[in-house]
Amino acid sequence: MIDLHTHSLFSDGELAPAELVRRFEVAGYKALAITDHGDQSNIDLIIPRLVAFCEQINRRQGIRVIPGIELTHVPPEFIPALVSKSREIGARLVVVHGETIVEPVAPKTNRTAIESSVDILAHPGLITEEEVLLAKKRSVYLELTSRKGHSLTNGHVAQLAHKVGVPLILNSDTHAPGDIWPVARLHEIVVGAGLTKDDYHTMLKNAESIVERCLS
Ligand SMILES: [Zn+2]
Ligand SMILES: [Zn+2]
Repeated sequence: MIDLHTHSLFSDGELAPAELVRRFEVAGYKALAITDHGDQSNIDLIIPRLVAFCEQINRRQGIRVIPGIELTHVPPEFIPALVSKSREIGARLVVVHGETIVEPVAPKTNRTAIESSVDILAHPGLITEEEVLLAKKRSVYLELTSRKGHSLTNGHVAQLAHKVGVPLILNSDTHAPGDIWPVARLHEIVVGAGLTKDDYHTMLKNAESIVERCLS
């Protein structure tokens, strides 16, 4: 399994990157992206450190680790420039913290993230069909999540993504050891959102192709 949305103590996660990686490895995961919360104030602190960490850890056998960022609560007008800046300074995976219904995320965040061609739009809440169509056109993956609260709209996201044919990805948004979902039970989240076990396998393949792209 692969998880492309996790947090270390570079933002509000509980674990240092090395322990986060170790715990995912022991849980049976093959690849992991560390995507700490970033905005205008801190991406230059977080990204280069994660890049250096990943460069070293990926020299050994075992789980592959991708340096990423989750642009979080950034006012939409600043998102495009921050996506570019994140890539420039080494982020291999850019996630935007979408319009989850459990936080006051600014309206137009989903749309602006998609228009900026981010890699993954996380927990996009009550995303519209028009935005889902745009995500398909821009090759932006939409996220289903095991995270409490954010997962309340998984069914809505799954249904629209299925209808439009936009690829989905399954992530945990891990902040603490207890958030690491057992590999053997991951399909339950997908089936619980109204999709099938086949859809779950397709989502795994989607994650594999992102990992390949990020590490090439
Ligand atoms: Zn967080
Ligand atoms: Zn997150």
